[in-house]
Amino acid sequence: MYDPKSLRAQEFIDHGEVLESLSWASENSKDGAVIRSIIEKARLRKGLPHREALALLDCEDPELNAEILALAKRIKMDYYGNRIVMFAPLYLSNYCVNGCLYCPYHSTNKNIARKKLSMEDIVREVTALQDMGHKRLALEAGEHPAMNPIEYILESIAAIYSIKHKNGAIRRVNVNIAATTVENYEKLRDAGIGTYILFQETYDRAAYSELHPYGPKSDYDWHTEAMDRAQFGGIDDVGLGVLFGLENYRYEFAALMMHAEHLEAVHGVGPHTISVPRVRAADDIDPGAFRGGITDDTFAKIVACIRISVPYTGMIVSTRESRECREKVLELGVSQISGGSRTSVGGYFERETENSSQFEVNDNRSLDEVIGWLMERGHIPSFCTACYREGRTGDRFMALCKSGKILNCCHPNALMTLKEYLVDYATPRTLEMGNALIDSEIGVVPNAKLRALVARKLTEIEQGARDFRI
Ligand code: SF4
Ligand code: SF4
Repeated sequence: MYDPKSLRAQEFIDHGEVLESLSWASENSKDGAVIRSIIEKARLRKGLPHREALALLDCEDPELNAEILALAKRIKMDYYGNRIVMFAPLYLSNYCVNGCLYCPYHSTNKNIARKKLSMEDIVREVTALQDMGHKRLALEAGEHPAMNPIEYILESIAAIYSIKHKNGAIRRVNVNIAATTVENYEKLRDAGIGTYILFQETYDRAAYSELHPYGPKSDYDWHTEAMDRAQFGGIDDVGLGVLFGLENYRYEFAALMMHAEHLEAVHGVGPHTISVPRVRAADDIDPGAFRGGITDDTFAKIVACIRISVPYTGMIVSTRESRECREKVLELGVSQISGGSRTSVGGYFERETENSSQFEVNDNRSLDEVIGWLMERGHIPSFCTACYREGRTGDRFMALCKSGKILNCCHPNALMTLKEYLVDYATPRTLEMGNALIDSEIGVVPNAKLRALVARKLTEIEQGARDFRI
């Protein structure tokens, strides 16, 4: 029985409700008047219920689709402006006791090298990341109670925050580790993490069982209810995600929207971020082996419909996607991307000689190249980590974001953190482009007092000061 307020996965992701939504959307998506009324509702920027969101996704009318894509772009600009936040994944360990069929870290894969970073390795990796210019990391680790216990994760987080190399610093550590207990989430909160991220992979319970034949992750309810435990453990910001390409994307999309509604209904705070990874080739993994492959156009439509339906959420796309695909989805609502990523354990300090990566990177450009490319396309690359550090998390963040006021922080912070990057790490070409961009964007800051403050801080950054935020 469907109940968004329930704490039981089988009720807030009710299979019957997903199926009814699929048939409702399929029928109504052919009715231009219905779609038009949903688009009008979406223009209010309050989001959409899952059935209506799915009807937009199902719509095949080219004219209406053009309106949907244009609206997604508009909403992204209204909420977050043209800043794109940068991050990098850091793989701590690929030891794992689970059997996920889409991931090369599954425990029976004997082809990959198993690695776990020591604290000395972490210093080397983080120093290399700082020397690239990164300020925000997403920690990744397989699930292995003996090799990667929570104590190891906590020690790693403390080490990462403590490393200061030249002007470098990691200011926000987001964590993507296996579903765990409320007590462990409390420990992660106390360690000062930013967002807790956990991908659902698939919301379809039967498919989930097939794809997770053994290990703790095979427990659908334990995995799906993790975000509630994280919230009860005091982690305000949680990030959802589906691994698109595994199963029917319509089912996944509807259930993802239901999960977002559930978090709002129970905790008063929806997902801080939604990630849209797609299955990629890797050792022992052939994306063609799964039933749910999607085209780039469908992928782009999914991004646009998430942006329209959950307008306040940060949306993340990684280097799993090609430059071309990232170009497209950046226009449609993505607000965070990774750059210069290595998806292997220890891959930043030295190029790996043994294969330990989780997936093949589809965008191999350096961070500096990605920064230059973003600016050429009119985006402001941002290394901002201000909200978490200013206590703007959970409902405080959401209130600012939903009122459209977060942009007053995002835009100046993007300019100041980009300036830090340019002064400390950029190549001459990127430096020149970046300074020109900042000169033109500073005029866009609407408030004269704030504009003057930012101009002053930019000068101070040139003179050696660091870490300003609004
Ligand atoms: Fe382990 Fe995560 Fe890979 Fe599954 S997806 S095998 S839990 S690392
Ligand atoms: Fe993100 Fe907050 Fe910085 Fe905006 S101001 S980029 S929402 S951390």
